[in-house]
Amino acid sequence: MSVITKNTITKRTTTKAKKSVFIETYGCQMNVYDTQLVLSILQKHDYKIALTEKDADIVMLNTCSVRDKANQRIYNRVHTLRQESKHPLLIGILGCMATNFKTDLLENKRLGIDFIAGPDSYKELPNLIKDVTETGEKSYDVTLSEFETYSDIYPTHQSGVNAWLAIMRGCNNFCTFCVVPYTRGRERSRDPHNIVKEVQRLVSDGFKQVTLLGQNVNSYKFEQYDFTDLMTMVSDVPGLKRVRFTSPHPKDFPTKLLKVMNERDNLCNQLHVPLQAGNDRVLKKMNRSYTKQEFLDLIVEMKALIPDVSLSTDVIVGFPTETDEEFKDTIDVMKKVEFDHAFMFKYSERPNTRAAAKFPDDIPEEVKAARLAELIDIQKNISLNRYQRHIGTIEDILIEEEFTKKNKDMAMGRNDSNKIVLVPNNNLKKGEIYPVKIVGASPHALRAEQVASC
Ligand code: SF4
Repeated sequence: MSVITKNTITKRTTTKAKKSVFIETYGCQMNVYDTQLVLSILQKHDYKIALTEKDADIVMLNTCSVRDKANQRIYNRVHTLRQESKHPLLIGILGCMATNFKTDLLENKRLGIDFIAGPDSYKELPNLIKDVTETGEKSYDVTLSEFETYSDIYPTHQSGVNAWLAIMRGCNNFCTFCVVPYTRGRERSRDPHNIVKEVQRLVSDGFKQVTLLGQNVNSYKFEQYDFTDLMTMVSDVPGLKRVRFTSPHPKDFPTKLLKVMNERDNLCNQLHVPLQAGNDRVLKKMNRSYTKQEFLDLIVEMKALIPDVSLSTDVIVGFPTETDEEFKDTIDVMKKVEFDHAFMFKYSERPNTRAAAKFPDDIPEEVKAARLAELIDIQKNISLNRYQRHIGTIEDILIEEEFTKKNKDMAMGRNDSNKIVLVPNNNLKKGEIYPVKIVGASPHALRAEQVASC
């Protein structure tokens, strides 16, 4: 499948002055990764990275179409940038909104967008910028590719402990509430050997943890290699302390993957398993490919094969036509599974999705709000209980910050299950792993005391 919408190429000449670019990133981690890709592409074409939008000749907004009122937020931001800029400024839109709202963005004269690039067109950005600079006409490319994985580009990583690494792009599932298959195209995966090389380079650059990214990360498939093969290959990279991944689909957790995760120390015992809803009729309407019972069976297998597994999930309440009785099925699953953590949202219609076209958003706002409040309340108690189970245990934590914003004497790290752990900083170093004893818990974080290393 390929949707081609591309401007005419105009005469090109070499630009001598070094222009500076600044990118604001909205939405998911894939966008954070893509911003690093774009910066890497532009640096190779002699652009400088500006530290703020005020220092930049070109500002790009790497957008997301998932959150409510995402468009309005971007339109307001473009307006503010135009008003506050003291010099001529080129403004470009990247990401999901570029594909989803191309016509709107181009035709809205008051908005003043100069160029647009969809998620598969970032290599075209130097040309798009040159075109608009030379002709003064808006330029755009929102082609959705069947092949582009940016495998040949090493992103401009920030320094830190964790590096995000996209292993696949796109999605073939067409959940009715989701716009991703339309804005980011079909699934395609990177060569595993190329991924391993990137991980080796990240480790030699000082990163201790990688988080493998994909819209549907565990559907990874490249020739004979599946996600379990890739996890094994990545886990074998010397010096890599922790491997995580997000965001998976419940349909792609084979037994062999769970076994490998349990066997290998650096594959973290943490699984995000997006439930979305607990009722079979609602799940079918969402076009999720499992029933309530199948989901619960999967969780039983996960807990059996990874005994200390930490589970998290995503839930949407108030999907069109969801009844009070059907919502109780969601509560039932949440109570039975006991997730450590849950991201819970009220349904809100996303433009250009199947749900928006076919199902009127018919659950009153106050009903959605009440369901969400009830679920949050239930989950808060479950989370507290799950976090309290750590008290008294000795765990390894990877230090992410040597002191927190609130307390300069406390360091912040994460344990294997990705829970935040606060510990008095007694010479703890960012990026190092230390054993600590957990002494306290809230529904969102653990408190610990340092213990002597063996
Ligand atoms: S699997 Fe995820 S990315 Fe794909 S359509 Fe469903 S919700 Fe969207």
